[in-house]
Amino acid sequence: MLVHLLRTSVYSGNVYLLPDSGMLVDAGISGSETIAAVSRFMDVEDLELVVLTHAHFDHSGGLVDLVERCDLRVALHRDDLGLLSDDLGSVASMFGASAPLVDVDIVLSDGDLLPIGGGDRLEVIHTPGHTPGGVCLYHRKSGSLFSGDTLFGAGGVGRVDLLGGDAHALLRSIERLAGLNVEVLYPGHGEPSSQDVSLQIERALRFARSMV
Ligand SMILES: [Zn+2]
Ligand SMILES: [Zn+2]
Repeated sequence: MLVHLLRTSVYSGNVYLLPDSGMLVDAGISGSETIAAVSRFMDVEDLELVVLTHAHFDHSGGLVDLVERCDLRVALHRDDLGLLSDDLGSVASMFGASAPLVDVDIVLSDGDLLPIGGGDRLEVIHTPGHTPGGVCLYHRKSGSLFSGDTLFGAGGVGRVDLLGGDAHALLRSIERLAGLNVEVLYPGHGEPSSQDVSLQIERALRFARSMV
Protein backbone atom coordinates (compact mmCIF):
# COMPACT_ATOMS: atom_id res chain seq x y z
CA MET A 1 0.00 0.00 0.00
CA LEU A 2 1.57 3.26 -1.15
CA VAL A 3 1.06 6.12 1.34
CA HIS A 4 2.36 9.69 1.21
CA LEU A 5 2.29 12.00 4.21
CA LEU A 6 1.47 15.42 2.76
CA ARG A 7 3.38 18.32 4.20
CA THR A 8 1.01 21.06 5.30
CA SER A 9 1.06 23.76 7.98
CA VAL A 10 1.98 23.07 11.59
CA TYR A 11 -1.60 23.70 12.70
CA SER A 12 -2.92 21.00 10.43
CA GLY A 13 -3.54 17.40 11.29
CA ASN A 14 -1.64 14.99 9.07
CA VAL A 15 -3.06 14.32 5.62
CA TYR A 16 -2.22 10.99 4.02
CA LEU A 17 -2.59 10.36 0.31
CA LEU A 18 -3.17 6.88 -1.08
CA PRO A 19 -2.55 7.70 -4.73
CA ASP A 20 -3.51 4.29 -6.13
CA SER A 21 -7.11 4.74 -5.00
CA GLY A 22 -7.33 8.55 -5.00
CA MET A 23 -8.05 8.47 -1.29
CA LEU A 24 -7.13 11.03 1.33
CA VAL A 25 -7.12 10.22 5.02
CA ASP A 26 -8.19 13.58 6.47
CA ALA A 27 -8.47 16.88 4.62
CA GLY A 28 -6.08 19.04 6.63
CA ILE A 29 -6.84 22.48 7.93
CA SER A 30 -6.42 24.23 4.57
CA GLY A 31 -7.82 22.93 1.30
CA SER A 32 -5.41 24.99 -0.81
CA GLU A 33 -2.42 23.56 1.08
CA THR A 34 -3.69 20.03 0.72
CA ILE A 35 -4.45 20.50 -2.99
CA ALA A 36 -0.96 21.89 -3.60
CA ALA A 37 0.59 18.95 -1.76
CA VAL A 38 -1.54 16.36 -3.62
CA SER A 39 -0.59 17.89 -6.97
CA ARG A 40 3.04 16.92 -6.38
CA PHE A 41 1.98 13.27 -6.61
CA MET A 42 -1.11 13.14 -8.85
CA ASP A 43 -3.76 15.11 -10.69
CA VAL A 44 -6.05 16.50 -7.99
CA GLU A 45 -9.03 15.91 -10.27
CA ASP A 46 -8.43 12.18 -9.79
CA LEU A 47 -9.05 12.31 -6.05
CA GLU A 48 -12.11 10.19 -5.27
CA LEU A 49 -12.65 10.17 -1.53
CA VAL A 50 -11.58 11.81 1.70
CA VAL A 51 -12.08 9.75 4.84
CA LEU A 52 -12.11 11.82 8.01
CA THR A 53 -10.65 10.17 11.09
CA HIS A 54 -12.84 12.59 13.04
CA ALA A 55 -14.58 15.94 12.65
CA HIS A 56 -12.06 18.31 14.24
CA PHE A 57 -11.21 21.37 12.19
CA ASP A 58 -7.46 20.67 11.97
CA HIS A 59 -8.49 17.55 10.01
CA SER A 60 -11.61 18.86 8.25
CA GLY A 61 -11.05 22.58 7.59
CA GLY A 62 -9.86 21.90 4.05
CA LEU A 63 -13.04 20.09 3.04
CA VAL A 64 -14.90 22.96 1.35
CA ASP A 65 -12.07 23.77 -1.06
CA LEU A 66 -11.36 20.09 -1.70
CA VAL A 67 -14.98 19.29 -2.54
CA GLU A 68 -15.27 22.35 -4.80
CA ARG A 69 -12.00 21.73 -6.64
CA CYS A 70 -11.95 17.94 -6.83
CA ASP A 71 -15.59 16.87 -6.54
CA LEU A 72 -14.52 14.10 -4.19
CA ARG A 73 -16.78 12.28 -1.76
CA VAL A 74 -16.58 12.72 2.01
CA ALA A 75 -16.75 9.88 4.54
CA LEU A 76 -17.23 10.34 8.30
CA HIS A 77 -18.45 8.16 11.15
CA ARG A 78 -22.08 8.70 12.05
CA ASP A 79 -21.30 9.77 15.63
CA ASP A 80 -19.22 12.76 14.47
CA LEU A 81 -21.78 14.10 11.98
CA GLY A 82 -23.12 16.59 14.52
CA LEU A 83 -19.66 17.91 15.34
CA LEU A 84 -18.53 18.52 11.76
CA SER A 85 -20.74 21.52 11.00
CA ASP A 86 -20.66 22.94 14.53
CA ASP A 87 -18.19 25.76 15.22
CA LEU A 88 -17.61 24.64 18.82
CA GLY A 89 -17.90 20.89 18.32
CA SER A 90 -15.46 20.91 15.43
CA VAL A 91 -13.20 23.29 17.39
CA ALA A 92 -13.21 25.59 14.32
CA SER A 93 -13.77 28.48 16.74
CA MET A 94 -10.42 27.67 18.42
CA PHE A 95 -8.83 28.45 15.07
CA GLY A 96 -10.87 31.63 14.56
CA ALA A 97 -12.73 29.93 11.72
CA SER A 98 -16.17 28.56 10.86
CA ALA A 99 -16.96 24.87 10.60
CA PRO A 100 -16.98 23.48 7.04
CA LEU A 101 -20.47 23.16 5.57
CA VAL A 102 -20.24 20.13 3.30
CA ASP A 103 -22.37 17.08 2.68
CA VAL A 104 -21.13 13.78 4.04
CA ASP A 105 -21.60 11.25 1.25
CA ILE A 106 -20.60 8.09 3.10
CA VAL A 107 -21.64 7.63 6.72
CA LEU A 108 -19.22 5.20 8.32
CA SER A 109 -19.89 2.47 10.86
CA ASP A 110 -17.55 0.11 12.66
CA GLY A 111 -16.54 -2.77 10.43
CA ASP A 112 -17.06 -0.98 7.12
CA LEU A 113 -14.54 -1.87 4.42
CA LEU A 114 -13.15 0.84 2.15
CA PRO A 115 -11.73 -0.41 -1.17
CA ILE A 116 -8.27 0.91 -2.02
CA GLY A 117 -7.79 -0.86 -5.35
CA GLY A 118 -6.44 -4.24 -6.35
CA GLY A 119 -9.03 -6.01 -4.21
CA ASP A 120 -7.46 -4.44 -1.14
CA ARG A 121 -9.32 -2.52 1.53
CA LEU A 122 -9.10 -0.55 4.74
CA GLU A 123 -11.14 -1.63 7.74
CA VAL A 124 -13.02 1.04 9.67
CA ILE A 125 -12.52 0.67 13.41
CA HIS A 126 -14.73 2.93 15.52
CA THR A 127 -12.49 4.40 18.22
CA PRO A 128 -14.50 6.91 20.30
CA GLY A 129 -12.88 8.84 23.13
CA HIS A 130 -11.17 11.84 21.52
CA THR A 131 -14.48 12.46 19.73
CA PRO A 132 -17.61 10.27 19.72
CA GLY A 133 -17.19 9.28 16.08
CA GLY A 134 -13.44 8.93 15.75
CA VAL A 135 -12.26 6.08 13.57
CA CYS A 136 -8.99 4.35 12.84
CA LEU A 137 -8.35 2.75 9.45
CA TYR A 138 -6.56 -0.58 9.40
CA HIS A 139 -4.84 -2.31 6.50
CA ARG A 140 -4.59 -5.83 7.80
CA LYS A 141 -2.28 -7.17 5.10
CA SER A 142 0.54 -4.72 5.86
CA GLY A 143 -0.35 -4.11 9.51
CA SER A 144 -0.81 -0.39 8.82
CA LEU A 145 -2.94 1.72 11.11
CA PHE A 146 -4.15 5.28 10.48
CA SER A 147 -4.84 6.27 14.06
CA GLY A 148 -6.18 9.83 13.77
CA ASP A 149 -6.08 11.58 17.13
CA THR A 150 -6.85 8.38 19.05
CA LEU A 151 -3.20 7.55 19.60
CA PHE A 152 0.12 9.00 18.52
CA GLY A 153 3.70 7.81 18.32
CA ALA A 154 5.76 7.28 21.46
CA GLY A 155 2.70 6.44 23.55
CA GLY A 156 0.74 9.65 23.13
CA VAL A 157 -3.05 9.60 23.21
CA GLY A 158 -5.76 12.03 22.12
CA ARG A 159 -7.06 14.67 24.49
CA VAL A 160 -10.47 13.99 26.01
CA ASP A 161 -11.33 17.45 27.33
CA LEU A 162 -13.05 18.70 24.17
CA LEU A 163 -16.77 18.37 23.38
CA GLY A 164 -17.70 14.68 23.26
CA GLY A 165 -14.39 13.55 24.77
CA ASP A 166 -14.54 10.48 27.03
CA ALA A 167 -11.50 9.00 28.79
CA HIS A 168 -13.19 5.63 29.44
CA ALA A 169 -14.19 5.31 25.80
CA LEU A 170 -10.66 6.24 24.73
CA LEU A 171 -9.22 3.53 26.96
CA ARG A 172 -11.56 0.91 25.47
CA SER A 173 -10.63 2.09 21.98
CA ILE A 174 -6.90 1.81 22.64
CA GLU A 175 -7.40 -1.60 24.26
CA ARG A 176 -8.98 -2.68 21.01
CA LEU A 177 -6.10 -1.27 18.93
CA ALA A 178 -3.60 -3.02 21.18
CA GLY A 179 -5.10 -6.30 20.02
CA LEU A 180 -4.15 -5.64 16.40
CA ASN A 181 -0.91 -6.50 14.68
CA VAL A 182 0.37 -3.00 13.84
CA GLU A 183 3.65 -2.70 11.95
CA VAL A 184 3.29 0.86 10.66
CA LEU A 185 1.58 3.69 12.52
CA TYR A 186 0.21 6.69 10.61
CA PRO A 187 -0.93 9.07 13.37
CA GLY A 188 -3.03 12.21 12.99
CA HIS A 189 -0.12 14.34 14.23
CA GLY A 190 3.61 13.67 14.24
CA GLU A 191 5.66 11.36 12.09
CA PRO A 192 4.64 7.92 10.87
CA SER A 193 6.59 5.14 12.50
CA SER A 194 7.52 1.54 11.82
CA GLN A 195 9.87 1.07 14.78
CA ASP A 196 8.59 -0.87 17.80
CA VAL A 197 5.01 0.13 17.07
CA SER A 198 3.48 -2.46 19.38
CA LEU A 199 5.61 -1.05 22.23
CA GLN A 200 4.39 2.44 21.40
CA ILE A 201 0.78 1.23 21.54
CA GLU A 202 1.45 -0.53 24.86
CA ARG A 203 2.73 2.79 26.24
CA ALA A 204 -0.38 4.55 24.93
CA LEU A 205 -2.50 1.93 26.65
CA ARG A 206 -0.74 2.53 29.98
CA PHE A 207 -1.18 6.28 29.53
CA ALA A 208 -4.89 5.89 28.74
CA ARG A 209 -5.32 3.68 31.84
CA SER A 210 -3.75 6.43 33.95
CA MET A 211 -6.36 8.92 32.69
CA VAL A 212 -9.47 7.11 34.00
ZN1 LIG B 1 -5.84 16.80 15.41
ZN1 LIG C 1 -8.81 16.00 17.07
